[in-house]
Amino acid sequence: MQLPSALIQSLQGLPGFDEQRFVDIHNANTSLTSIRLNPAGSEVILQSFKDRGINSTPIPWAGNGCYLSERPSFTFDPLFHAGTYYVQEASSMFIEQALQQSVDVSKPLRVLDLCAAPGGKSTHLQSLLSAESLLVSNEVIRQRVNILKDNIIKWGSSNVVVTNNDPRDFSKLKGYFDVIVVDAPCSGSGLFRRDEEAINEWSENNVVLCSQRQQRILADVLPALKEGGGLIYSTCSYSRQEDEDITDWLTTEFPLSNIRLNVQHDWNISEAATPLGNSGYRFWPHLAKGEGFFLAAFRLNDGDVYKNKNKQVVKPATKQLLPSVSLWANVAGNELIQVNDKVYAWPAVLFEDFNLLLQHLRIIYSGTLLGELAHKKLIPDHALAMSKMVAETISRTELELSEAIAYLQKNTIENTGWTTGWQLAAYSKQALGWMNVLSNRINNYYPKELRILKQKINN
Ligand code: SAM
Repeated sequence: MQLPSALIQSLQGLPGFDEQRFVDIHNANTSLTSIRLNPAGSEVILQSFKDRGINSTPIPWAGNGCYLSERPSFTFDPLFHAGTYYVQEASSMFIEQALQQSVDVSKPLRVLDLCAAPGGKSTHLQSLLSAESLLVSNEVIRQRVNILKDNIIKWGSSNVVVTNNDPRDFSKLKGYFDVIVVDAPCSGSGLFRRDEEAINEWSENNVVLCSQRQQRILADVLPALKEGGGLIYSTCSYSRQEDEDITDWLTTEFPLSNIRLNVQHDWNISEAATPLGNSGYRFWPHLAKGEGFFLAAFRLNDGDVYKNKNKQVVKPATKQLLPSVSLWANVAGNELIQVNDKVYAWPAVLFEDFNLLLQHLRIIYSGTLLGELAHKKLIPDHALAMSKMVAETISRTELELSEAIAYLQKNTIENTGWTTGWQLAAYSKQALGWMNVLSNRINNYYPKELRILKQKINN
C-alpha cells in the first residue's frame, strides 16, 4: 500500500503518530471485524456466533460493541437481517463516550444526527437515548436516504424521524436540539486500510476542500443547537485541517466550549491538544484497536431556546384506526396517524415534535409504519415486523437456517406442515418479516428491495 507522502509529512508531530508503525500497520494486511449489538436481542446473537466458533471480545469504549475473531458472511446470517446487530467500525463507536459524558442521557433529549447515512451513528445513538427522546436522522444526499431509512426500520426504533435536508434547513429550528452530531464528510484517510482505492482519491487539495465544506456544514446547522446543548464533531480523516483546525475554528467563531472527555489509558486513544488548548481524540490504527478516527465535543454557552408556537398539522386518528390496528399491534403509548392509506404510530410523547418537524423538514420516515389500509383492513408493513409493537397474539413460525435464507432471498419455501394464515417468519426467535401461509404455498412479504440477491455464499 503506497500511502501519500504529503499525508505522511502532514502528520509529523501529531500526538500518537509514529511514521514507521503507521506505515507498517497499513501494510500488515490485517483486518478487524466489529459489530454493535441491538440491545433488544443481544444474548441471542453472541450465542449464535459462539455456536459458529466465532469468539467476541468487548470494545472497551462501547457497551454493546464487540470485536469478532473472524468475519462471517453477514449476508447469509438471518440475524443480521433481523436487525440484532450492526456491522460497524470500532473507533467510530467512541461517540458513545462523547454523548454520555456531555449530556444526561436519562433525560428526554432532542438529538440531530446531521450526516447520518448509512446509519451507524444513528442506530448507536438510538440505543443510547431514552425512549422519550427524539432522534432526527438526516441525510442530504437523496440516493443515500433509503439505506438510512432501511437501517432505522431494521433497528426497530419508533422515536426516529428520517429527513432529507440540507444543513441550512435546520436553521429554521433555532435552539431546538439538545445535541447535534456532525459526522462530517471528509477526505477519508482514516479508512485507507479498508479501502485502498480511497488512496487514489486523496489529495492535499481535497483536504482543503473538505475542511471548507465542514465549516459550511457546521456554521449552517449551529443555530439549531440549544443554549447549553452539546455538539459532537467527528471525521475519519487524519488531517489536522479537518480535525484540530476545525476544533479551534469552532471555539473561535462560536460561543462553544470544548469538552474534555475521560479516556482510559489502556484504550490507546491519543488526546490531541490543539494550538488553542482544546482537546480532540485521535484513533491511530497502530495504537487503538480500530481505524483512523477523530472526535471533539463542545457545549454551546450562549444561544436560543426553541419555543413551539406551531399549530398541529396532523391530527391523531387513534380512535378510528384502533379496531383495525389492534389485531396486529400493541400501540399503547402511541398516537396513530393516517397518511393516504398508510397508518403510522408516533410515540405520544413526541407527537408535538413530529408535527413540528413535518412543517419544516422533508420527512422520509417517522415513527413506525404499521401498515396500509385496504377495505378498512390493515395489511401489516415490514416495519411493524421489525418493531417491538407486534401484538402478542400474532403467531410466529421458527424457520431452519436454509428456510430463513430462502425466505430472505424470496425463493420458494415448502409448507412443511405450518399452520395457515398471516404470521411472522422468525429465526432464533427474531422476526425476519411477514408471510401468509396458504395450504399449498407461502406468500412471502419480505420487501423485494431488501432481499438477498446472491444465491450462494461464494457466488
Ligand atoms: N454518520 C454515518 C454513519 O455513522 O453511518 C456516516 C456519515 S459519512 C462520514 C458523511 C455523510 O455526510 C455522508 O452520508 C454524506 O452523504 C453526507 N454529506 C455529504 N455532503 C454533505 C453536506 N454538504 N452536508 C451534509 N452532509 C453531507
